[in-house]
Amino acid sequence: MKFDMPTCGGCRTCEMACSYKHTKEFSYLNSSIKIMDDEEGRGFYVWLSDKGDGKTKACDGCKKLEIPYCVQYCKQKEELIDILRQFDQMKEIH
Ligand code: SF4
Ligand code: SF4
Repeated sequence: MKFDMPTCGGCRTCEMACSYKHTKEFSYLNSSIKIMDDEEGRGFYVWLSDKGDGKTKACDGCKKLEIPYCVQYCKQKEELIDILRQFDQMKEIH
């Protein structure tokens, strides 16, 4: 699922944090969160995996943690938390 995040700076630290959570390694291939370039050059958007596909694990929201791994290292924490909330709600609808 794709979410606009105008304040995202594209550092991709969230991808590394998520990968580490899943595999204890740092690789964007193992991350449930992907930062994508906006095709129209307006910055970045966030994509979250709602279904695993063999390579990418589905985002479970890091429910067992007080603060999700990806949020811990994001400079725009509030916005990323809001995106994770929206993601949770959309998963329930689908
Ligand atoms: S850590 Fe935050 S600012 Fe950096 S790419 Fe991820 S969402 Fe964007
Ligand atoms: S909430 Fe957890 S599983 Fe989901 S993208 Fe963030 S670090 Fe990955």
